[in-house]
Amino acid sequence: MARAWVGLGANLGDAQATVSAAIEALDGLVDTALLRASLLYATPAWGNEDQPPFVNAVACVETALPPLDLLDALLALEARFGRVRDPAVHWGPRQLDLDVLLYGEQVLDLPRLKVPHPFLHERAFVLLPLAEIDPELMVPGHGRVRDIVMRVPTSGIVPIRG
Ligand code: AMP
Repeated sequence: MARAWVGLGANLGDAQATVSAAIEALDGLVDTALLRASLLYATPAWGNEDQPPFVNAVACVETALPPLDLLDALLALEARFGRVRDPAVHWGPRQLDLDVLLYGEQVLDLPRLKVPHPFLHERAFVLLPLAEIDPELMVPGHGRVRDIVMRVPTSGIVPIRG
């Protein structure tokens, strides 16, 4: 069994409901159990800024799926939640986006899967929720979450309570 971290994001439709449902759905993946999840966070749009704000969260799962199988399971979950990929729009709006942030302490540089996620260490909307639930978490090549989060601007990213 491995411990993996999944990043979730949505900014179309009822994004809060989508992210909450997707967190629950992680627990339903084959050979996978949800261990914990962060609060949901409201995040100004990143990359392409001409789109609605995002709802983001991170979740930790224990899984017997090898990394590529976990990726495929997450892509299938995205599809189930109705994501339609528009190849013309990079970093565009999406119903649900799921990323493998970390897979144990493994470092993978495969054509379909890079772990740690290549942007993890510079994205406050990932680092803040990670710091909320596991500040001591080690990101291979970058150090502890609680130290990395100090190096990125976090303004505008707020937990959604209630
Ligand atoms: P996007 O959803 O637009 O961020 O891109 C998804 C694609 O990125 C997937 O089809 C994966 O093959 C690739 N990819 C590479 N590394 C990762 C990762 N750590 N998590 C999720 N997708 C990844």
